[in-house]
Amino acid sequence: MHPSTHVTHIPEIGLTDVLVQVKMASICGTDLHIYEWDDWAKATVHVPMVIGHEFVGEIVSVGSNVSDFHPGEIVSGEGHVVCGRCRNCLAGRRHLCAHTRGVGVNRAGAFAEYIVLPMSNIWRHSAKVDLEIAAIFDPFGNAVHTALSFPVLGEDVLITGAGPIGIMAAAVVRHALANSLIPVLTVLGLQFGALLSGSIITETIFSWPGIGRLTVQAIDARDYPLVQGCILFIALCTVTVNLATDLLYARLDPRIRYE
Ligand SMILES: [Zn+2]
Ligand SMILES: [Zn+2]
Repeated sequence: MHPSTHVTHIPEIGLTDVLVQVKMASICGTDLHIYEWDDWAKATVHVPMVIGHEFVGEIVSVGSNVSDFHPGEIVSGEGHVVCGRCRNCLAGRRHLCAHTRGVGVNRAGAFAEYIVLPMSNIWRHSAKVDLEIAAIFDPFGNAVHTALSFPVLGEDVLITGAGPIGIMAAAVVRHALANSLIPVLTVLGLQFGALLSGSIITETIFSWPGIGRLTVQAIDARDYPLVQGCILFIALCTVTVNLATDLLYARLDPRIRYE
């Protein structure tokens, strides 16, 4: 059975839960798998299911044991609800909980007017953050974690893959004072707005009159020109692979439009 539209009631909340009215949601690759109803989705998602897990909303009410959150606050939710009682949870390794339930996958998600989450999954937003940005808090967390897994201060950084998370990682690395940054800009990356994540310097490596030119792009590169030995070599190899993948993907799936 393919997921379809259906009506649910405003969910009830438990003692430690928070009820959030969803204001804006974004679409994750996970949602596309479910939309396609591929083998993974068929084996994982039990319908009917409210899908979606990237969102921002306003707290409507809280359970009687919740004292840190209040109605009216703008929040997002972390998309993995863990048991809190198993060996890994008790050791602080909640990401390894064997009883994890994915929001919008194994339990009701955010493509609805209301969502309920345990208070431990709720994250409050600064009022300065636009809702469009707050709605992609979840993948942004992924980018921050990934980018800061490396000591980037003063380093030359190569980011292969300029999808949404790659672009966000470029912004994070730039903020963390990397020396020079070479994101491999792909067709889809450019459509996603990769040029917006920093001031891009473009340098032509080779030029074939009447045919085209080969360029490398970098953000805030201090040692210009950019031809930097093996970094360039890796970048060119990767851009070739990524371009082929992107072109193939875009051709196979005409719904992929990111204007
Ligand atoms: Zn996601
Ligand atoms: Zn657990």
